[in-house]
Amino acid sequence: MRIILLGSPGVGKGTIAKLLSQNNGSVQISTGDILRSAIKEGTELGNKAKKYMDEGGLVPDSLIMDIMEKRLREPDCRKGFILDGFPRTISQASQLKAILEKLGITLDYVINLEAPLNVILERLTTRRTCSNQTCQEIYNIRNNPPAEGNKCRKCGHMVVQRDDETQEAITERIRVYNEKTAPLVGFYQKEKLLRNVESLKADETFAEIKTLKI
Ligand code: ADP
Ligand code: ZN
Repeated sequence: MRIILLGSPGVGKGTIAKLLSQNNGSVQISTGDILRSAIKEGTELGNKAKKYMDEGGLVPDSLIMDIMEKRLREPDCRKGFILDGFPRTISQASQLKAILEKLGITLDYVINLEAPLNVILERLTTRRTCSNQTCQEIYNIRNNPPAEGNKCRKCGHMVVQRDDETQEAITERIRVYNEKTAPLVGFYQKEKLLRNVESLKADETFAEIKTLKI
């Protein structure tokens, strides 16, 4: 499958992307994960991106387009991909369109995940993530807590709160989403690719996406 997952921070893009990828072998490409690994490794990209991310703002389009064009050219993308967190601005979306045309790739759908604001805020403030870069399992202190001593149940590494999950950064991420990313819904509606899917329970959302004909 070749899809884009669209939706607010905290709507569940990462969780759904992981489920779909395990189910059908398409690669999950999360720009957030790519940027966080770059920060951890101290690469030039990471150093440039960190300040924008910590404040809850967007990393400049030019940096994102460079890494994504390279990523989409890698051979593993031929078996399908799930874009999670990209594109995030109209400029990124129109540049992506040109790249896909150049590579002869067509998208199946753009899935817009939807949940009420109170659900999203609750998820973002209670979310915790495994600090192991190759695992990154997502937990929730209310309904899916990590093991004793804040350890990941999959790999045993520490489970932590992301730097951009402070109250201020969360408020800013949602503001930026509404201003810069929400207009993509209209963009992909015009392209006749958009499907709206409710994202309240991960298993139900996953089941609904699987019923879309791809
Ligand atoms: P969420 O969707 O929950 O905000 P992500 O992991 O997708 O989390 O993104 C975290 C941060 O990484 C964003 O707040 C932003 O600073 C940066 N980022 C990720 N993807 C992009 C992108 N496509 N364009 C610009 N910035 C991005
Ligand atoms: Zn882990």
